[in-house]
Amino acid sequence: LEEQVRRSDRLKMIGQIAAGTAHEIRNPLTAIKGFMQLLQKSLTEQRMAREQEFVTIVLSELDRVHELVNEFLLLSKSRETKFEPVRLGRILQEMLPMLRNEAMLHDITLRYEPRNDLPLVLADKEMLKQVFLNLGKNAIEAMGKGGSLVIRERRGDPRLGQVSVDICDTGGGIPAELLDRVFDPFFTTKEQGTGLGLSICQRIVHDLGGHIDVASSSAGTVFTVSIPFVGVRGSGMASGGGALSLDDV
Ligand code: ADP
Ligand code: MG
Repeated sequence: LEEQVRRSDRLKMIGQIAAGTAHEIRNPLTAIKGFMQLLQKSLTEQRMAREQEFVTIVLSELDRVHELVNEFLLLSKSRETKFEPVRLGRILQEMLPMLRNEAMLHDITLRYEPRNDLPLVLADKEMLKQVFLNLGKNAIEAMGKGGSLVIRERRGDPRLGQVSVDICDTGGGIPAELLDRVFDPFFTTKEQGTGLGLSICQRIVHDLGGHIDVASSSAGTVFTVSIPFVGVRGSGMASGGGALSLDDV
């Protein structure tokens, strides 16, 4: 527990710093990117191949900074979560095309196992999309070239009134001694990693009253996102299997 408090304090602090600076950084970044694109266009017209190459590098490095800043913003924004009743399957379906593209580029087969009999959850759609996208990207990155990514919806622990999504990969797995560090902000084993993905995921899911579990072996890793369904969180309107089914309207 102490460990968790420490972790959440750190996250809170990072979130505060992020909120203060990310916007200030993002605006000039957008301007720089715009002018770089103009420059690239004019270099192309003048057939200046070498200079064009420099600008291409600048643009791709800019994208990396942009991504980092966006992650910071997400970290700070998750405190103003908007709750609406949604079907997890819909969120997954909207997120899947992005992941499918990544998977194809890496010769990874992606299988989605939907369920249409699960209750709705109260969640911020865009933020949950980010969660599944982050987990999916991590899975793909863990596999490198080839492998199988399975995304499975299922009913979670009935006593907790949750629905769950498993994200399963056939990557190299996470060594046991690192397992409880992967959610730490800035923990990364990747050369180009920010180490923020999982801490953002965890923060978002915690804000929804849910949790993320991880199980890993040398055969692969499963991340499980569990979220309370509508009626369980706070309102006490439903219990057990008797959740509201607003999606049937
Ligand atoms: P990043 O992806 O930038 O490294 P994350 O917070 O998303 O940051 O992940 C932190 C670390 O957790 C990764 O660097 C990796 O070592 C480990 N990890 C996360 N997901 C997986 C996975 N599916 N398989 C193996 N290792 C993983
Ligand atoms: Mg990541």
